[in-house]
Amino acid sequence: MANIIIDRIRKNFGTFQALKEVSLTVNDGEFVSLLGPSGCGKTTLLRIIAGLESESAGDIRIGDRSVVGLQPKDRGLAMVFQNYAVFPHMTVFENVAFGLRMQKADEARVSQQVKKAAALLHIEPYLDRYPNKLSGGQRQRVAVARALAVEPKVLLMDEPLSNLDALLRLEMRTELKTVLQSSGTTTIYVTHDQTEAMGLSDRIAVMHDGQIEQVGHPVDIYNHPATRFVGGFIGNPPMNFIRMPVTDGHVIAGSERFSVPPQSGPEIILGLRGEAVVLAPPSEGFQMRVRVAEPMGSHLLLTGLIENQPVRVILPAAEKVASGDVIGLKPDPARISWLAPDSGKAYL
Ligand code: ATP
Repeated sequence: MANIIIDRIRKNFGTFQALKEVSLTVNDGEFVSLLGPSGCGKTTLLRIIAGLESESAGDIRIGDRSVVGLQPKDRGLAMVFQNYAVFPHMTVFENVAFGLRMQKADEARVSQQVKKAAALLHIEPYLDRYPNKLSGGQRQRVAVARALAVEPKVLLMDEPLSNLDALLRLEMRTELKTVLQSSGTTTIYVTHDQTEAMGLSDRIAVMHDGQIEQVGHPVDIYNHPATRFVGGFIGNPPMNFIRMPVTDGHVIAGSERFSVPPQSGPEIILGLRGEAVVLAPPSEGFQMRVRVAEPMGSHLLLTGLIENQPVRVILPAAEKVASGDVIGLKPDPARISWLAPDSGKAYL
């Protein structure tokens, strides 16, 4: 078993609390992303799991033994960090073989594993080169290949695809997912790129301000964000938030009435995904004043105002809407989130 239990981890840098109290269980073979904006504590948490940084309080267990106080090399994991240096005095082959040599693997296994990892990361043509003859993206792929070559039970990765161009990044994402799924590697993956986290992860832990704000399956988090922060961080465009008065337990939008959760006050925030609407005549549903209509090919992106509040919605590409139009939008009631105006928390 290679599950990872993060139990009430705290980290202070002087008086600054980088991690407030973080708990998370990653199951054997699971791929979990730590997702959040710059400075929320993702890298600090990963470095604590790896043993590169010490915790101020709390426990980390890997495969049911506490690893607190253990050296990184004794924790039974492999890691790839954003700026994880490849060894400049070794060829790419020897860099990829490094972990296997440490394990005293025989020559046949070294050769087989290096070839396999090199093929996966598309670095076979460079196996005889030294790292100073590689681009940043190629070096990053060498670092990933080195971690995968040992077939680790636990893999920690911090933005491992950040130096790749968009197309290669997408390709590597798919390859990583395939290989980690088939090998059953337990993976924690740090990223601030929500598309990457959505595509790769079995579950996502959304971090904000030194805490985990929500953990769940990507689609559940997308459809049912626990907080306004999560709804705004996940999804492109972000979830729309429209502050509305509550009348007799309902919010009224043109011809439509939506019942709100019983515990709500005189006002409520209606959370609505940009694509969870259909076009209607202006008298029906929400009235939207379209400021800009952008045909994106696959869809039509509209930016404008509903109830004088800024929104972005997505309609099928074939809809005829132009900048300056006033339209009606009927929300799908099943896809509305209701949030408290003061705390920003979703009513469940
Ligand atoms: P990014 O996506 O930018 O890498 P992150 O979410 O990984 O951000 P961390 O690197 O974990 O963020 O940093 C969390 C907070 O802790 C930041 O405010 C950072 O300035 C602070 N911090 C990190 N390392 C140290 C340190 N050694 N000393 C003091 N403060 C630190």
